[in-house]
Amino acid sequence: MPELPEMEAWRRALNDPVSAFPVAKAGPAHIATLKTFGPPLSALEGRRLRGAERRGKRLLFPTDDGELVLLIHLMTSGRLKMVPAGEAGPKTPAFRLEFAGGSKLVLTENAKRKRAGVWLLTPEAARAELEHLGPEALGLDAAELAGILRRDARRLHPLLRDQRALAGIGRAWANEILHAAKLSPYALSTDVSDDEVERLASAMDDELRRGLALREGGARNDRTYRVHDKLGQPCRRCGTPIAQVDFEEHTIYYCPVCQTGGRVLKDRRLSRLLR
Ligand SMILES: [Zn+2]
Repeated sequence: MPELPEMEAWRRALNDPVSAFPVAKAGPAHIATLKTFGPPLSALEGRRLRGAERRGKRLLFPTDDGELVLLIHLMTSGRLKMVPAGEAGPKTPAFRLEFAGGSKLVLTENAKRKRAGVWLLTPEAARAELEHLGPEALGLDAAELAGILRRDARRLHPLLRDQRALAGIGRAWANEILHAAKLSPYALSTDVSDDEVERLASAMDDELRRGLALREGGARNDRTYRVHDKLGQPCRRCGTPIAQVDFEEHTIYYCPVCQTGGRVLKDRRLSRLLR
């Protein structure tokens, strides 16, 4: 799933092209992709977008008259593409926005179950839609992070991925950030020391900025990630093979020397079966 670095790279790339011309035609949209019925998509036609904004993993395209906001969440397999004027683009997009100059913003989703979403909202409704999100993960300082960690005792990996706690981090960057901070994915948020909070805050900032720079340069996953999806490959700090622990819908990757003091994390699916 694209996370903060990926979405921010997208936002920067899309900001100028989406605001260059007014919308000529909004849609078609796949029935599962379009999450709102009113205002209708056609309400966008003739209006110009102000540019691209981002909140957590979502992109927002407000109209420059301030009346509407187009919100896009790519989920796991949604992808956005700007198709230049004169090029055909994909035949059955999940969503398409055509601009007066002939270029198109196209959302595709190569998955059986359509999960990506498009919402056309008033600014008030857009605010309500985003209200549950925690503060942006990028730019969070150690004091703010400490407040989030100390609120409840939670394991670090799921806490970092919880968009209500802080917005923008998913499975991949949680792996990268915890490895950079030398913290166990299972460590309890209330157990981390002040020094560890500092380390986590700077790892979060460094890793998200590193990811953003790489994604802006067009780097693919294998060159972007250092631990995520790198089972058995040497840890770049100590050389130990990267280990993994499986959950139902995702896998945590970590270095057993740098992060868990030599302990191998137990597969929680297995321990639940044995309980
Ligand atoms: Zn290591």
